[in-house]
Amino acid sequence: MGIDVWRERGALPERAAAASPDFLAAEPGVAIPSVADVAADAAPTSEMGWDALRAAVSGCRQCGLCETRTNTVFGVGAETSEWMVIGEAPGANEDAQGEPFVGRAGKLLNSMLEAIGLARDSVFISNTLKCRPAGNRDPSPEETKACSPYLIRQIELLRPKIILAVGRIAAQTLLESTESLGKLRGREHRYAPTATPLIVTYHPAYLLRTPAHKRQAWEDLKRARGLVNRQ
Ligand code: URA
Repeated sequence: MGIDVWRERGALPERAAAASPDFLAAEPGVAIPSVADVAADAAPTSEMGWDALRAAVSGCRQCGLCETRTNTVFGVGAETSEWMVIGEAPGANEDAQGEPFVGRAGKLLNSMLEAIGLARDSVFISNTLKCRPAGNRDPSPEETKACSPYLIRQIELLRPKIILAVGRIAAQTLLESTESLGKLRGREHRYAPTATPLIVTYHPAYLLRTPAHKRQAWEDLKRARGLVNRQ
């Protein structure tokens, strides 16, 4: 099977934004805790389970991106998945829908996964940032640092057999490297904290602009599948 068989599929249905929970309705004489108070009382990220982590991300105010986001984008997929795909940060579509990779790049990602026999809902898809940097600029070092505990905990909870880092930002963040994407792809890495095998490939948005590199992305995907099959 070659890269040429990738097909576009329909977008996922839109998700409604979470409404304010009823229990926050004001009672006379009862002070409602601020998000900051709740966060201060919460367990450290490193001790959170999935539900607590989701709640922490959805209430996060650790960096300025909380001021401009529509939705946080926690990640989507099976919490038992052997595959974890990690991109850069939500774009406009993802910010609107609260789900990663739902725009054109997401459709191509789905096709890439399908090409190696993986349905989108059988992998866990996340990003280095859980909120959209306005104008789709690169994440700042401060934003990456503020958001990294969430991604680290997702990896710890999921314990995937393989991490597929799509694009330079995800690859450099996970590998703590400043090497170019060209130098990082084409070989096997490990995500050091959990020694998880990690493969770097092109970001699907880049592949939309540079389809000539799809062939190399296909090689990356086959390498990743080989690493999973060997375990
Ligand atoms: N690009 C990314 O890196 N992540 C998304 O979720 C969408 C586009």
